[in-house]
Amino acid sequence: MTKARVRRITSSAALILLLVVCFSLAPALCGQALSVSAYETATDFQYPLKPGGWFLGQDFKNWRTARDAYHLGEDYMPSDYKTELPVYAPANGEVKGSGYISGYGYTVIIEHRLSSGSYVCSVLGHLKPNVVTRGTSVKKGQLVGYISNDPRENGGYNFAHLHFGIRSGVYSTARDADGGYRYRGYTPYQSIANLWYDPTDFIKVVNGSQGGSSGSKNENAKIVLSTLELNFKYVKRNTPTVKALTFKGTNLNGYVTVEAPAGYYISTKLNDPGAYKKTLTFKPSNGTVKETIYVAFKPTQRDYYISNLKISSPGAATRYIKVKGAGV
Ligand SMILES: [Zn+2]
Repeated sequence: MTKARVRRITSSAALILLLVVCFSLAPALCGQALSVSAYETATDFQYPLKPGGWFLGQDFKNWRTARDAYHLGEDYMPSDYKTELPVYAPANGEVKGSGYISGYGYTVIIEHRLSSGSYVCSVLGHLKPNVVTRGTSVKKGQLVGYISNDPRENGGYNFAHLHFGIRSGVYSTARDADGGYRYRGYTPYQSIANLWYDPTDFIKVVNGSQGGSSGSKNENAKIVLSTLELNFKYVKRNTPTVKALTFKGTNLNGYVTVEAPAGYYISTKLNDPGAYKKTLTFKPSNGTVKETIYVAFKPTQRDYYISNLKISSPGAATRYIKVKGAGV
């Protein structure tokens, strides 16, 4: 063999070795480096669930005390907590991840290229075993999975729900700055939480700036309140004092959830002490709901109770009513 031929063989072998190493050890990374994003641009976004039959169970950036962490997406619950609703691609993109992830169960991650040229990835967690495979180009509204009601599939939950997260940037297998999984559902760090978008706000903003349509009624969803503040002043401990509040929601896409902070309870029945709860949900009729709820302040401590009552519905801006009072 001539020296040149040896060199050629050696360089060919090196190339083959490189490719073998590349595709066996780090397929995702190499695929990303070699592939061109051939899929269609995401001109507009929609909710990954069809309108109706679900509600917002947990909001974006909710601080979850049990986990000491921020929630990095929105959780959508089927109205009966068990229907395995079909899940659709929120926008055009390419499936970059599809498989079982601890905590999420079966999960689909889709990369989207926006009209602006920037990228985001959407995370759809707690699904049934995946119906789409990695590398599949998807169009907005294309079926990509089903919510799972099976704890063996959905990451261990005994109810069905969809976690929907939208993270800035191209898909990457790199870990986060703290070493955590990049597409996780919670983080204790504000700096990492800031890399994620509020899905509802994101859909509105992208569709507004790009002139698209969300494919749902959500763009006009609105909740109007009869008051922005309830002041209970001084209340004797363990003696509930009640004030009324009326709200009206229009063009709603899902259930309305009302949540009361510590020291406060809510009910639709003024004189039924057993009906007062921490959370109430209301089902809109033709997208509309109008309710009067009674807010009971029941301090147990000699202390100030200043917080917010929260009223939320998927697609509508969350509304807060300031509640304040002191236990004496
Ligand atoms: Zn979640």
